[in-house]
Amino acid sequence: MSGTSELPAPVEPGGPAARATLTEPVPAPLGIFDPHLLAACISCGFCLPVCPTYAQTKAEADSPRGRITLMRALEEGRLDADDSTLQAQAGRCLGCRRCETVCPAGVKYGELLEQWRDHQWRGRHTPPVAAALRAGVRVTPALTAGGLVRGAARPTGAADPARPHLMLGCLERSLFPKVSKAVLKFVPDADVPAGQGCCGALHAHNGGSVEAAAMAARLGETMPGTIVSTSGGCAAYLAHQLGHERVKEISEFLLAQWEADPESMPSLRRLTIDGRPARVGLKDSCQLRNGLGVIQPPRTLIAKVADYVELPSAGVCCGGAGTYSMLQPEMSKAVLDPTLVQAREADLDYLVALNVVCTRQLQAGVKRAKLRVKVVHLVELLELALSD
Ligand code: SF4
Ligand code: SF4
Repeated sequence: MSGTSELPAPVEPGGPAARATLTEPVPAPLGIFDPHLLAACISCGFCLPVCPTYAQTKAEADSPRGRITLMRALEEGRLDADDSTLQAQAGRCLGCRRCETVCPAGVKYGELLEQWRDHQWRGRHTPPVAAALRAGVRVTPALTAGGLVRGAARPTGAADPARPHLMLGCLERSLFPKVSKAVLKFVPDADVPAGQGCCGALHAHNGGSVEAAAMAARLGETMPGTIVSTSGGCAAYLAHQLGHERVKEISEFLLAQWEADPESMPSLRRLTIDGRPARVGLKDSCQLRNGLGVIQPPRTLIAKVADYVELPSAGVCCGGAGTYSMLQPEMSKAVLDPTLVQAREADLDYLVALNVVCTRQLQAGVKRAKLRVKVVHLVELLELALSD
């Protein structure tokens, strides 16, 4: 796979461009980015080896550092939003935030990417898939009806602030309705507040961060108190907006609950396949791992019911990344492929996902590669282990 385009030429110290800057007025920044966030990068390149898109092409433009160079060129007016490299790279980044985990300067790449797409993906520059999804997930009644028809957990009425609230998720309630049903077996005191809208994560990652923040605030009002989410991307975004103390992803919630009160943990048997222990791998949710820092809880829970197998690429993006598999199908598959090879080599029985888009992406990849491994959400795996 080759890189998409060239970066703007760097300004050589003492060269003609640098001399020109001494005599020409310096253009004012355009205010697209938070200047402190944009200035933080020291161009060290530590992030390059962990970036999944750079791993595919070894092109600077496909790296975090290269993209920050592009953002700076945009901010300084050296490139505008019509530039083909800018347009390509705004969509080519997975938004996985793996670069943040190794950055010695603490660059908040995820926030920079949101600001970039807010500017870049406006009007005719908006990718049609992103525009359609931004409009589509606003139709809460249709999603609610889809979830009800397909058997998701049924709303219980207005939220009881004293109880934890199960968040149904826009896509998950329709695509994987059994997940919310399974949660209620492990969190029986949870309610399922009616009238849940979208958390806004998808909008924030697709050029609509202002609208997204308003959606998160509305959802927080619908569900005062503790919110439990089964989707890593939703949990991370909502926790960023409402506070991590209020918003818990299901693996961290269950582990904390069972460690604080071991008697609340249901009896779980060890899963077996043909008389041997089941072999189970995990694919982290990028936003959960890199954004919220939740890494160990799902592994600990899987190990309670099966032989846990850590895949070398467990913490690398699956290529699903919100709308990415539709926007960048070729790169999306290339990023996923190493995981499929590793799942085959590890002879996995189950591959656990923690996010609705990851589940879809992994299921499509497993089907394409004709693997026998079954992709399930963590709570579906735990449900299999519930003793009768
Ligand atoms: S590791 Fe951080 S500071 Fe270094 S190039 Fe990457 S983003 Fe910039
Ligand atoms: S968010 Fe992911 S894909 Fe984008 S630059 Fe960072 S590591 Fe690379």
